[in-house]
Amino acid sequence: MKCPNCEQHELTEARENYLYQECGLGNVTLAGIVVRRCPGCGNVMPRVPNIEGLHDVIAHLLVTKPERLIAPEIVFLRKYLGWSGADFAKNMHCDRAQISKWEHGKVGMSKPYELLLREMVASGKKIEDYQRHEAAREKRFASRAVVLMLEEKEWREAA
Ligand SMILES: [Zn+2]
Repeated sequence: MKCPNCEQHELTEARENYLYQECGLGNVTLAGIVVRRCPGCGNVMPRVPNIEGLHDVIAHLLVTKPERLIAPEIVFLRKYLGWSGADFAKNMHCDRAQISKWEHGKVGMSKPYELLLREMVASGKKIEDYQRHEAAREKRFASRAVVLMLEEKEWREAA
């Protein structure tokens, strides 16, 4: 297959562990997916099967993580819910300026807002997991590295 970007070089294809920055998070690696690369222009084209299922798993990991949510995770969850900034402000009962501060990491979300967001994500997707109620017990804002693997078309966290 020719590179659709430069239309000059043949794409190479290999399985690799791919840092999935397209989701907006810097800590999610997709294990062993097919990635096409152009040796000429540097175009990179990962093949990500079942993106909806993948985003379900990432959202679940976020709403159940014990550490507080960081700014890019808040943005991910807002987009996962399919909300604009205005939708987010309306559903969180706060103003746009507040949303902007959270999403740019100017201030951390206060616990009640963070728990509300987690609940909205969880209930929207009917995720039953008690652990999310334990959210925000840790004081530090942090994000651990996550490796996701495709098993029979379903994304799971690698052990
Ligand atoms: Zn190219």
